[in-house]
Amino acid sequence: MELRGRAASITDSPTLAITAKAKAMQAAGEDVVSLSAGEPDFDTPDFIKQATIDALQSGETKYSPASGLPVLKNAIVRKLKRDNGLSYDTKQIAISSGAKHTLYNLFQVLLGEGDEVIVPAPYWVSYPEQIGCAGGKTVVVNTSEADGFVLRPDALREKLTDRTRFLVLNSPSNPTGGVYEKSDLEAVAEVCLENNIGVISDEIYEHLIYGGRTHHSIAEVSPEMKELTLVVNGHSKAYSMTGWRLGYVAGNADVVAAVGRLQSQSTSNPVTFVQYGGVAALDKDQQCVLEMRAEFDKRRMYIVDRLNSLPGVTCATPLGAFYVFPNVGSHYGKTLGGAKVKDSFDFCDALLKQQKVAIVPGEPFGADPHVRLSYATSMAVIEKGLDRIASFLASAE
Ligand code: PMP
Ligand code: GLU
Repeated sequence: MELRGRAASITDSPTLAITAKAKAMQAAGEDVVSLSAGEPDFDTPDFIKQATIDALQSGETKYSPASGLPVLKNAIVRKLKRDNGLSYDTKQIAISSGAKHTLYNLFQVLLGEGDEVIVPAPYWVSYPEQIGCAGGKTVVVNTSEADGFVLRPDALREKLTDRTRFLVLNSPSNPTGGVYEKSDLEAVAEVCLENNIGVISDEIYEHLIYGGRTHHSIAEVSPEMKELTLVVNGHSKAYSMTGWRLGYVAGNADVVAAVGRLQSQSTSNPVTFVQYGGVAALDKDQQCVLEMRAEFDKRRMYIVDRLNSLPGVTCATPLGAFYVFPNVGSHYGKTLGGAKVKDSFDFCDALLKQQKVAIVPGEPFGADPHVRLSYATSMAVIEKGLDRIASFLASAE
């Protein structure tokens, strides 16, 4: 059958595809070290599971409102006030099946054919694909490692056209771990306000931020900027709830209502009993989040040191999320373990074949000299993976 329409050219998410390949190799008995998965290795905290079990047992197994249960919307409103100092009404909240689904819905309701969305590179792999699926056009603006991968206002200004509708911000960033300071956001906000550019602010890694830094949302900059911002967040990363599928948007009530209508004609509600687990996660003691973050922080320091000690590799210290994004471009053009390596795909393929280490190429993140490693896995796995990468690079000819 012929595939037609906007999604005909959609590619598999490379992050999910590589993680699935590593899992399949492990299931077939191969000793694969996977540093590819963008998901915390911790179990979901028990109190969240218990709240969900209680909801299941009390019969919360029916459809709920398409844009989510009022009880979870209220918990999200409290969370946004407590953690971000942002006040919203429940009419400004729509809950979806993961933040990826939230982003997808937003692009669907916000973009017309050919509308431009500015996406700072390196970017998370799904933004350009989702924008394309909605008929929009991704306009990439490069950021530099020297600038901590933070978007500067002049670089943003240069990309504006009369078709520019939105800017996507992602702080802390997947894949760079870059974090925007309040002053960085103020500088970007000035350009957005001057030009009436909306911001889709993906804050899914909000709680995974290190070295005593605090997370800021561009919506905090001013009431005017809050009007222009759609804050996207979810439970996956902070509470180790990746498989549960809960994400949400806070912002303009008309946009939120449109997301609700789109959901009512497509997926309907996020799983009803899961939403009760989501309430517990946001409302109860947040100690579990701090514990997971402390563990990620130890791994972060270890993996950065190890990577920087490898020949031809430079790695900036990420300030947030749970990824490192080293530059390995000096190895392109060489032969590694017998395979000619010309780009990040070859590098990752050769590493998986020869050393059985799964990592993600930088190219789909818009940065081919780089590769992405996740440290959301145990220290033992990280050590083993880095030992193997060291052997791989030692074979360079
Ligand atoms: N945004 C970014 C930057 C991500 O890395 C992820 C991870 N999948 C998501 C959004 C979506 O997360 P989820 O759909 O699990 O809520
Ligand atoms: N966001 C994670 C990652 O980048 C999970 C995979 C995905 O949703 O693409 O690895």
